[in-house]
Amino acid sequence: MIAIETQGLHKRFRGVNAVDGVDLSVPEGAIFGFLGPNGAGKTTTIRLLLGLLRPNRGRIALFGESLKNRRTKALKSVGVAFETPAHYEHLTGRENLDITRRLLKLDKSEIDRVLETVELKYVENRLVRKYSLGMRHRLGLARALLGRPKLLIFDEPTNGLDPVGIREMREFIKTLPERTGATVFVSSHHLAEIEQMASHVAVIHLGKIVFQGGMSELRGLHAPRLELACSDATAAASFLSGAGKPAETKGGRLVLELASADGAEREAAEINRDLVGAGFDIHHLAIAPWTLEELFLQLVGAKPTIRSDAA
Ligand code: ATP
Repeated sequence: MIAIETQGLHKRFRGVNAVDGVDLSVPEGAIFGFLGPNGAGKTTTIRLLLGLLRPNRGRIALFGESLKNRRTKALKSVGVAFETPAHYEHLTGRENLDITRRLLKLDKSEIDRVLETVELKYVENRLVRKYSLGMRHRLGLARALLGRPKLLIFDEPTNGLDPVGIREMREFIKTLPERTGATVFVSSHHLAEIEQMASHVAVIHLGKIVFQGGMSELRGLHAPRLELACSDATAAASFLSGAGKPAETKGGRLVLELASADGAEREAAEINRDLVGAGFDIHHLAIAPWTLEELFLQLVGAKPTIRSDAA
C-alpha cells in the first residue's frame, strides 16, 4: 500500500512556483525523509498534503483515498507535528492533550498511552510553561500520536533543539514505525539526521523533486572515491592522469573518482599496484563513499567539497 501518493502537484504563489510538478510515492511503513534547502517547497508540500492549501494542479491520495473527494476520511489517518509546537502554556501537558482527545472523541486512556510513548508521564501535571523545549517537542509528538494515526507528518521536528535533544528526537522517531505501525513523513534540512533515520528519501529543490528512492539508491548515485597519501603526490597525480585516472590533490592527499561502487575494491587494489610498481610509496589508501551532504549538494547544484578524512 502507498501511504502518500501525489501526481503533478503544483502550487503557485504570486509568481513563485513553490511546488512545481511534485510526484511523491511514500511506501507504507517507511520513514520517509523529505529534504530540501530553505525555501525549497517542503512546508508548502506538507500544507498541501494536509489539505491546508489547495493545489493549482495535481492530485493527492493518502492510503488510496483522494484528498479532494474524501478529505475527512483521508485526513482521519494523519497525525501532524509542526516545527514550532503550539501548546497552551498555562495548562499541564495532560490538559493540553485532553483538549485534542475530546475533539477526536477518544478514550481517556489514549492520553496515558501517548504520554508513555513519548516518555512524558513523569511531567504530565507540570504546566507547559515550565517544560523544556525538548519536552514541548515531545508533547507535540504525543498529540500527533493520539488516535493511533497510520501516517505521521513531522515538519522539521528537531528545529531549535540542542544536540542532545536532536539525538533523542531522532532516536524516538526511528522507533515509531515499529512501535506504532505508522508511516513517518519527516521534513528536514538536517542531512545527517535524515541519513541516520530514514529508509527512503526525496530531495526537493526549487519546488521540484530532484531525487526520490531508497537511502541505498541515493548512496549508489555516485561511485565512491579513492583517497591516498603517497610519496611525491604531484608526480603520482601526473602518473595517474597519464593512466586515464585524473586525481585532485587535497591537503597533501590524492583523491580520484572510482569507476563503480561494485568494482571499487578491485580498482583500488589495481591503482595501488600500479603506483607501487612505478616506485611510489603508499602511506594511506581508503575508499571513501560520498556523504549524504555531498550528494545533496550535487543534487541541488552546489559543488561538493571533497572530504579530507577517510571513511
Ligand atoms: P524552509 O526550510 O525555509 O521552511 P521550505 O522548503 O519549507 O523552506 P516553503 O516554505 O514551502 O519552503 O516555500 C517555498 C517557496 O514558496 C518559497 O520561495 C517561499 O517564499 C514561497 N512561499 C511559501 N508560502 C508562501 C505564501 N503564503 N505566499 C507567498 N509565497 C510563499
